[in-house]
Amino acid sequence: MSAQAVGREDNMGSLFQRIGLSLGARALPVGVFVAGVLASTYAGVVRYDHAQTERAAAQQDAAEDFLFLLRHRLTLYEGATRDLAALFSASDAIRAEEFSAFITASQVFQRYDGIRVFGYVARVPAGDVARFERDTRREVPGFHLVDPAPAHEYYPVVYGEHAFDPARMTALLGVDFAAFPERRAAMQEAARRGEPVATRRMSTILDSQGRSIVQVYAPVRPPGSGTVKGYIFSTLYTNVMFAGLDNGRMSRQFDLEVYDGSVAPENLVYGAARAPHALAQRGERPAYGSAVRFANRAWLIHLYARPGAGDTEPARAAVLFAMASSLLSLAAAWATAAWLRNRARQRAMHDFSERFAAFFEHHPFSVCAIDKQRRFLHANDQLLRELGVDRQALLGKRAGAYVDPADLASVERQLDEALAGRAVAFATRVPGAAGRMVDMSIVLIPMSTRDDVTHVLGFAENITERKDAERALYESRQMLQLILDNIPQSVFWKNADSVYEGGNRALLADAGLATDADLIGRTDADLHWKDRAPQYRQVDLEVMQSGVARMRMQALDRDIAGAERWVETSKIPLKDDAGNVTGVLAVTEDITARKYMEQELFRLAHHDSLTGLPNRGYFNGQLEQAVARAQRHGGLALMYFDIDRFKGINDTHGHDVGDEVIRMFASRVQAVVREADFVARLGGDEFVLIAEGLQGPAAAAVIAQKIVGAMVPPFQLGAATLQVTTSIGIATFAAGQTARTLIRAADQAMYDAKRAGRNCFRIAAAGDDRSVT
Ligand code: GH3
Ligand code: MG
Repeated sequence: MSAQAVGREDNMGSLFQRIGLSLGARALPVGVFVAGVLASTYAGVVRYDHAQTERAAAQQDAAEDFLFLLRHRLTLYEGATRDLAALFSASDAIRAEEFSAFITASQVFQRYDGIRVFGYVARVPAGDVARFERDTRREVPGFHLVDPAPAHEYYPVVYGEHAFDPARMTALLGVDFAAFPERRAAMQEAARRGEPVATRRMSTILDSQGRSIVQVYAPVRPPGSGTVKGYIFSTLYTNVMFAGLDNGRMSRQFDLEVYDGSVAPENLVYGAARAPHALAQRGERPAYGSAVRFANRAWLIHLYARPGAGDTEPARAAVLFAMASSLLSLAAAWATAAWLRNRARQRAMHDFSERFAAFFEHHPFSVCAIDKQRRFLHANDQLLRELGVDRQALLGKRAGAYVDPADLASVERQLDEALAGRAVAFATRVPGAAGRMVDMSIVLIPMSTRDDVTHVLGFAENITERKDAERALYESRQMLQLILDNIPQSVFWKNADSVYEGGNRALLADAGLATDADLIGRTDADLHWKDRAPQYRQVDLEVMQSGVARMRMQALDRDIAGAERWVETSKIPLKDDAGNVTGVLAVTEDITARKYMEQELFRLAHHDSLTGLPNRGYFNGQLEQAVARAQRHGGLALMYFDIDRFKGINDTHGHDVGDEVIRMFASRVQAVVREADFVARLGGDEFVLIAEGLQGPAAAAVIAQKIVGAMVPPFQLGAATLQVTTSIGIATFAAGQTARTLIRAADQAMYDAKRAGRNCFRIAAAGDDRSVT
């Protein structure tokens, strides 16, 4: 366990799940809540239905009340016109003044909202117009018929009263009302029935708001007379008349629509709504509807319930009721859940205590429970084994007694944290069973009921082996570094891009760098051997691509000061666990000294120490090679020569002088032969010369003569002056010869020269060697 903070709640949650309480802990409160909501909703719906029924009944009552009022109002309106007509019928003649006085006294305009005009139209036969105008002018100055159309009788307005605008009334005087078809029809019907008759909605005359008006005509007929004398008319503004019904109470509750005869746009006498309901797309059904007779017309009265406070009230009340009840259900559910949770916690703690032993007894980790007083409550077998104590000795003891005293303060702090409700993880050392300290990785988890931590559960893993391994690894790394830094070779390693990832001290010195940090991340192009970086990169790539090391590559190099040196480098591919090449490891060594030693050893092994000339061994090898070359090209001559009567020099002047003579002899030979000629000392006073590329025996003779000639000047040795001569035997290569036969022939020729008197040369005849055994 490495988690630093394991949530306490999560912890407890998982504990509940383990002991199977979660189902009950959730189902009951959810059940309480659901039942509460269902009951609330049902009650809300019942309330709403009831309220709806009540509301419908109340609406019906209100509609009937309004309809009653409406009928009554219309009866009064009809009656007002009838009454006035009756008064006129009863009088012989009514004068304008009397009409005006009557209207004022009866207060009809005040009593009947919406009636704007009461007036009188007289029936005037066409032939009687002039007389009628004359008679009327006595009462109404300036009276005349206004633009009468040709007709057999006229019905001009004679006098009338406007509710508030006398000028408008004056404008009507003399106008023939029968010229309008609606009016003429109403007048004729009224005359026929002897009753007030209303016009249909007058589409041609609109009030100021664009709404229609109707007029009611009541016939005036003198008693006993069969003919109508004229008509009393009233002009009704239907918007004013209906809108003001019941002081506006109706218009708040209902939209009223009144149609004349049938529902059609041209029949709309009154519509409260801007868009009449009955004329709407699908002809909305009225809440209440009835037909009313008014002045011989059948008016259809529709009442539409207005969407308003009264409409939504029951619904809102029901919703509020349901919401309030649901909140109560929620509270009940929460309380149930809290009670269950608390009970479950209590039981979990109890069960946990009981089950602790069984559950953790065989856990591979050490497990314990520590109470608030930091004493061991429980411990499993593993912990007892780890500490080397028995259970009775451990339980009740303070946890702090079982940690390394040096770690005690920090362990106490971790316990503080855990007891404060936070899970912690840490490592410490405890005295183990074998008497040695063991490293433990510990996780402490607080166990709580509600907000109170009752105890801490501890898990401990023995990590001593891991720690030991880490220490061993660290030590071996240290050792490796120590070795690397103290070997003379330069060691370095690069990644797949040939970027340096490390190097030992010798490499840093080679590169002129102080620390690793100066090297890591660099490439050869950044270092003083940058000129050779491309070659080095090439080798790195070869090694990495082939996966095969390249060992002991020698090369001439220059050190940081520019001095030439030999280096030997081995490069090994570095591979990861999967065997993929990740870079290259190299070891480089300065082999300048070794190179010198090798050369020196070679020289010592192959040369004569007295003269510095190649020795017999070296000569043998060279002759073999020369013979091999001569097999193809020919031109090879071998000369054997020695100093004449050298024993005598030794005997007369001593060995030292003898040695000096040999040295001087050798140097005189070297001085006269070509660079390419190979001169060796076989031992004593014997020498050989290998000459290649010669054009026949004559050329060899020339060399031999030169050597003989070189000895002519006397040898000056301190006080002594010596005359030294040499005898030379020459063998020239012929097909089929070997080194051995050639040597024998030359030796034989030299012997011949000696016999001939010395200080001369002889050339072996072809085949000579075979004659000599
Ligand atoms: P010849 O003309 O027949 O060659 O007569 P010689 O006296 O030179 O006889 P030979 O070549 O056989 O003798 C060689 C002598 O050289 C024998 C030996 O004592 C002497 N000698 C051999 N090695 C050395 C040496 O390293 N130093 C000296 N001073 N003398 C040597
Ligand atoms: Mg000799």
